[in-house]
Amino acid sequence: MSSSISAVEQGLESDRKTVPGPILLLGAPGVGKGTQAKELVKIWGIPQISTGDLLRGNVAQGTQLGRVAKEIMGRGELVPDSLVDEMVAVRLQQPDTVNGYILDGFPRTLGQAGWLDGRLATQPDTLPVVAVSIQVNYNQLLRRITGRRNCPVCQTIYNVNVNPPKKDGFCDIEGAALTQRADDTEEVFKERMRAYGALTAPVVEHYRALGRFAEVDGDRPIGAIAAGIVAAVERLRQ
Ligand code: AMP
Repeated sequence: MSSSISAVEQGLESDRKTVPGPILLLGAPGVGKGTQAKELVKIWGIPQISTGDLLRGNVAQGTQLGRVAKEIMGRGELVPDSLVDEMVAVRLQQPDTVNGYILDGFPRTLGQAGWLDGRLATQPDTLPVVAVSIQVNYNQLLRRITGRRNCPVCQTIYNVNVNPPKKDGFCDIEGAALTQRADDTEEVFKERMRAYGALTAPVVEHYRALGRFAEVDGDRPIGAIAAGIVAAVERLRQ
């Protein structure tokens, strides 16, 4: 279906000259940050760094961080800045981040943004961040969150309402039974939106005020949104 035509299928991945540098994907839960980050990975060849995925990995492995984060995530609240900042610091030391990276779900508080800005300020060879905020209205977000299903093998994200797999409940690529995130319920969504409004919306305003900021309409086909993000980043990097 048209909504699942990817940026790669549209030929957007060819010979990009812009070095993307650090990109922040901002937006409420369910706007499609993870889906778009995966499109941008294919286009730019830089890694997606999703703090939600890293935290879920820690929960699955039963690390000390995972044990602390599990309950907090289950309630839809935010994991303390110091723990998330440290986790991101470790990930950013990996050599695959040298040409840039896509931060998906970070920073989510002004404290995290201050930490990231401070860290980048100590690295004069690194390009300044470009922040892209994806916009989708509340009712659409609720529909997306409660319909979201994930492949536990290849991490492909489906939606039973807007981007269903060919065979109900199973991944098109791996054939694996799809899973639903524990926090993708209506009740937890409401708390996640409350946390977003109180703590993360000011982060969007912080980056808007700094410039190198763009807003894209997230209520479009996946490839069209990715194309909008690429165009915005190329414009802001000129
Ligand atoms: P996500 O996969 O981005 O929707 O994140 C899922 C959950 O992980 C959030 O509801 C938070 O509990 C936690 N989380 C993810 N990223 C952060 C962050 N940057 N700061 C604090 N908590 C986070």
